[in-house]
Amino acid sequence: MGSTHHPLSIAIMGGGIAGLALAAALVKKPHLDIHVYEAVSAHSDVGAGLALHRNALAAMALLGPEVHQAYLDKAINIGEDAEAEMATDIFFACGPHANTGADQEPVAELGRAKGRKSVSRADLLAGLLGLVPGDKVSFGKRLTKIWEEEEEEGEGKVKFEFGDGTKGEADCVLGADGIHSVVRGYVVGEDHPARHPVNHDRWQVYRTVVATEDAIEAGVEERFTRTVPILLGPRGHVNCIPMNKGTRLSAGVAVRGAALGEKEVDGPGKGDNEGRRKELDVGLYKDYTPEARAIVELVARDTSASWAVGDHDNAPVYFKGRVAMLGDAAHASLPFAGNGAAQALEDAAVLDHLFERVKQPSQIEAALGAYDAVRRPRSQDVVGVARMLGRAYAFAERDIHEDPKKARVFFTQAGRFTNEADLTRQNEEAMAKMEDSVRGVSKNN
Ligand code: FAD
Repeated sequence: MGSTHHPLSIAIMGGGIAGLALAAALVKKPHLDIHVYEAVSAHSDVGAGLALHRNALAAMALLGPEVHQAYLDKAINIGEDAEAEMATDIFFACGPHANTGADQEPVAELGRAKGRKSVSRADLLAGLLGLVPGDKVSFGKRLTKIWEEEEEEGEGKVKFEFGDGTKGEADCVLGADGIHSVVRGYVVGEDHPARHPVNHDRWQVYRTVVATEDAIEAGVEERFTRTVPILLGPRGHVNCIPMNKGTRLSAGVAVRGAALGEKEVDGPGKGDNEGRRKELDVGLYKDYTPEARAIVELVARDTSASWAVGDHDNAPVYFKGRVAMLGDAAHASLPFAGNGAAQALEDAAVLDHLFERVKQPSQIEAALGAYDAVRRPRSQDVVGVARMLGRAYAFAERDIHEDPKKARVFFTQAGRFTNEADLTRQNEEAMAKMEDSVRGVSKNN
């Protein structure tokens, strides 16, 4: 593939995990001129703790050692021994197989890896932001409109407009603008049934972040403040993630069927939760184990951080012309597979790999087509796995909660699919598809 005299301009909409990780990698390529446009004026700490699985770490390593290091600098070891293998542990919080007692083993595990860590979303964003030069990121720029104009064959620019009335253009736009993505509306069409997020199972999530010592004082088992446990039960599953080098604990309860409506999807820190949030009724958890109840009671103390979660039905395509979407914009998933950020990072790794070879505007569509072909099936399967896990956590997926052996097989398979992908092969497949497509175009010309 040939080169061009001027750098290709790439506008990245959204400076979240997907947008900043991608920017941190692309900014190293001299043939690209990137700029990130982020809606908010500064990132706030919405108290989300991320426990990144093996595929997320592999994707960061592909994006560059400094991206991986930015994460390592901010993350905490989940276990006491930094080299020990750790997993997300699944327990039953009620029923005949309840197993949350201090001497009991988890029923299954998801995402085992050596030296596993957790990180607060705000810390990770700060680390990634530090890798992108300040003049390449504009805050307070909320994308409102996007359109493409063909000027000469293969030379048209993508145009866009922000909420403050300013406009811009680029050779390519990559939409990493989250679950309520504006770019998604452009790519799939505003009237498409998969345009907006949905909450088919009416999930309501309650989450609190407290000092770890306060959690222990409130009765939370010490071991649940140092690991990533998920305690399952029919009226809600309970989980904990250690944050901020072990000094704070993010604890949550997710209840299936508790949201106000199917279409209600807020996201943490979004929307006006006041006045319409639902209280978490601790009385419903009398048959849960004492260890699970202690966490429910801690979360119920303050339900101001409560929201309806959602995901996307499958988009038919992830790109249109020179515009593509990635991360939650393309495939928001329920948080139950712990793999949304990981999938966003896998997207970024593939795009970064492809754009190494994209030197002319006429090659952009081939790159976005290859990205779509490789990433859409896998990322949409992960959305499906997260839905299935959510039902399993609520004792509503077949009968697996009745048989710990079946549960172990089920969770192990789901964990392997999301976390143990061969990402180098994924990148290579995408590159081969792009090269085929570019060859096909030049043969036809
Ligand atoms: P976001 O992080 O949402 O970023 C989108 C960015 O775009 C934001 O900064 C936003 O302000 C900006 N934006 C929005 N609209 C516009 C616009 N119009 N113009 C410009 N900018 C815009 N994933 C894991 O892998 N592991 C976990 O353990 C895990 N735990 C989770 C726990 C919870 C409670 C939740 C809710 C999610 C969890 N996830 C987890 C999922 C993960 O947080 C998301 O998948 C990930 O943040 C997606 O990254 P993103 O960059 O695509 O979107």
